[in-house]
Amino acid sequence: MTDPAPILLRGSTDPTVFHDAVWDRVFNHRRDTSRVPLAFCAARTVADVVAAVEFAKTRGCRVSVRSGGHSWAAWSVRHEALLLDLADLDRDPGPRIEYDELTKVVSCSPSVTGQELNDFLIAVDGGTGRLGWACESITAIEVVTADSQKLHCSETSNPDLIWAARGAGPGFPAIVTRFHLLTRPLTQIYQSLYFFPLSAFRTILQWEIDLAPTADPDTEIVGVTSHFPIPSHSGPLLLANFTTFKPCLSAAEAALSPIHASLPVPPLLALFCQPSSLADQYAQQTAANPAAHRYCSDNVYLANHLSDIPARLEAVFAGLPTPKSAALWFSMNPVSRRAFGGRDMALSLQSDHYVALYAVWEAEAEDDKCRGWVRGVMEGLERDSVGSYLGDADFEVRRTRFWSEEAGAKLKEVRRVWDPEGRVCGFLDRGDGGGVEGLANEFEWGGE
Ligand SMILES: Cc1cc2nc3c(=O)[nH]c(=O)nc-3n(C[C@H](O)[C@H](O)[C@H](O)COP(=O)(O)OP(=O)(O)OC[C@H]3O[C@@H](n4cnc5c(N)ncnc54)[C@H](O)[C@@H]3O)c2cc1C
Repeated sequence: MTDPAPILLRGSTDPTVFHDAVWDRVFNHRRDTSRVPLAFCAARTVADVVAAVEFAKTRGCRVSVRSGGHSWAAWSVRHEALLLDLADLDRDPGPRIEYDELTKVVSCSPSVTGQELNDFLIAVDGGTGRLGWACESITAIEVVTADSQKLHCSETSNPDLIWAARGAGPGFPAIVTRFHLLTRPLTQIYQSLYFFPLSAFRTILQWEIDLAPTADPDTEIVGVTSHFPIPSHSGPLLLANFTTFKPCLSAAEAALSPIHASLPVPPLLALFCQPSSLADQYAQQTAANPAAHRYCSDNVYLANHLSDIPARLEAVFAGLPTPKSAALWFSMNPVSRRAFGGRDMALSLQSDHYVALYAVWEAEAEDDKCRGWVRGVMEGLERDSVGSYLGDADFEVRRTRFWSEEAGAKLKEVRRVWDPEGRVCGFLDRGDGGGVEGLANEFEWGGE
């Protein structure tokens, strides 16, 4: 029997202890400390989650939830709410992660990171590959509702909550206490990396755009500018990155050779079909997104019909505000042509071209420059977009579309049904006033 987790009240907890509890697990070091929660609880059991929701009901306050702490805009920290941190949920006693050999379903606590999960799966010989959207793998969830009820949700029981879990993001109107996820056979990973001077930007990006529709479907195609540590080069470079998920080297070579053979200009540096791994991919991610830095991100899905995407992006991708910043074009094609695998889920908006900016810096003095870069670029691109991906967005800064019209309307309805009082903090929009209604799912200029 585990002792109930304490609920720390702001007014009766040492201010430093309270501040650290609130902010220590937030990845982004650019923090709006004017948002001060009323209380904090590090839940260890589902009973703690239920007790926290009961506490919030009694006090008439909202509950905000934190799992990994990785939302760029620190959505978990909300003014006058009870912050429910799930880092220790099912940790001791466990199990944080369980794998069912028969069904190939892994269940885990929501604060288990992708890296932790993949390490576990590699050890038990489960795994992942290029599979489309991660949320498509959710087979079931355990939740505590805004009314403090424990529920199991699947395609057949409470299906509207499973529908919302696949794409509502921070608008999910309950608290997930466990995910059940379908795994796939583990593949090998190989990568071709080509580094170019920015003078080749238009040629190379157009080449990547043109080859995406007919390239091997297990291969991710990315164009990214940043300051890469390439010997004898300083300043930003363009990296054309092809990552393929295949069972063996010969299959990877078959996927990557036609790309290599069609290079339109010689790169400064070429690394063809190098063996990689999930651990290696996480190491690359950690290098690109170091801890203890300040971040600002935003993104657009550029419309498929645009013919001159490289020309539109050239100045943007060359104009990085700091050496650690990056601008990314990610080919969604052919995933974008699968129509979400025919699945009806909240996630419902995409295009062939995902364009995201990640400003990365350390000194507060650079906040305005870095945030201004992201904001300015988005103002220039958003009218050519069909909307944005909410995981890299900040609803306080910019209003846009995140779902199809139909899914956006259904999400509002699901939120009204499951959390009519707005107990669970939803989307952090301007003034944090969206409440039960949530986001408008409209372009900013739509209401001009
Ligand atoms: C370094 C870095 C790399 C990233 N890379 C990618 C990437 O490759 N692809 C991608 O798609 N995104 C990426 N992101 C964005 C990130 O994955 C998303 O913001 C994601 O939502 C973070 O999950 P979290 O549990 O850490 O969020 P938290 O910050 O813990 O929570 C964010 C919000 O999600 C909701 N929430 C969290 N847990 C629960 C729960 N258990 N029940 C109900 N609601 C909950 C709450 O509203 C909460 O406020 C990256 C972010 C970082 C910092």
